[in-house]
Amino acid sequence: MIVVIRPDAAEPEATVRAITQVAARFDGIQVRPYKFSGEQDAFTEVHLIGPAAAVPTEPFEAIPGVLRVVRVSTRYRIIGRHGERAEAAGFEYNGVRFDNLTLNVLAGLCAVDTPAHVEATMSALCDTGIVTTRMGAYKPRTSPYDFQGLGRACLPYVFELAGRYGIRVVAMEVTDARQIDEITGALDTAGDPTGVMLQVGTRNAQNFELLKAVGQQARFPVLFKRGMGITLEESLNACEYVASEGNARIVFCLRGVKTHLGDPHRNLVDFAHVPVVRRQTRLSVCVDPSHSVGRMDPPADGIPDVFHVAGQGLIAGASSVLIDVHPRPQEALCDGPQALRLDQLPVFLRYVRRVRAAYEASVIDLQREGMGE
Ligand code: PEP
Ligand code: MN
Repeated sequence: MIVVIRPDAAEPEATVRAITQVAARFDGIQVRPYKFSGEQDAFTEVHLIGPAAAVPTEPFEAIPGVLRVVRVSTRYRIIGRHGERAEAAGFEYNGVRFDNLTLNVLAGLCAVDTPAHVEATMSALCDTGIVTTRMGAYKPRTSPYDFQGLGRACLPYVFELAGRYGIRVVAMEVTDARQIDEITGALDTAGDPTGVMLQVGTRNAQNFELLKAVGQQARFPVLFKRGMGITLEESLNACEYVASEGNARIVFCLRGVKTHLGDPHRNLVDFAHVPVVRRQTRLSVCVDPSHSVGRMDPPADGIPDVFHVAGQGLIAGASSVLIDVHPRPQEALCDGPQALRLDQLPVFLRYVRRVRAAYEASVIDLQREGMGE
């Protein structure tokens, strides 16, 4: 059962205390408050965990400051949308808003290799006005003989350069909970020049201990990449693991799924799932065209496949794009063949903005004409 507190409640904390007192009358019920920042308002919910089917709603509805009480039978208690309470939740992190209304392009190196490449990339981002990047330090590789990423050794210059070029958020994959401490330590030592969004998945999409660890920390938001060989439902449950541990600041990233039916692309593009994720959950959706397409073949119409695929995600309602770029793709130690060159970045950005504008205009038009339902 979920008790939703009015967004305009004078003292939400007092309402939470009153809910806790009423809940204490019922055996086996635990109380967990969650704060969300929705698209319109910030709001607080109190979740009653345990045998709540036997608990009446009326005593909670009578508490001043309570908006409504919802019985939830669905699996996604925290990340899900439940009937009327169809508020999409976004969040702001280090001055950057992540929600369904805000376009973010996280462009950067699949794997950090040299300080010079990091600097060239950050500088190009700065020139195009992008404040969000991706920088892989810990790389999960299929072969143990492939480059495994520079790990903690590169963190000091990655964070320092990010700060120098005005980058606010660095998406960085973690493959082990200890790396969260390494990132925390390096950011603290550098004096917090930037922010980090912890990327989890696709390979670790069901590493439940890692999911719990990213959920138990409150400092960093999470970019969850769907499992490449599991169902969408299983990936959404993985996000619920993160949220249930206390951290609901999650962006859900589609990145293609493994099947040879997607050949010659690296993965079968799954961006038709954007509206599904948005319907079933409150999470905003990111698409990763680089890991979906995985190559840079000559375009038939002057527009590379990674552009087209990013456009497909955006026109379906994704609001973030995660994209590999590299100053010298031919020298990249990981995933060079799928990276855009830095001179393609402004072109990509212009394309992304146009498609996003087309999406926004279509949504508004369809709503106006009453044809959106
Ligand atoms: C990545 O984004 O660097 C990555 C490894 O992607 P994925 O987990 O989707 O393969
Ligand atoms: Mn990669």
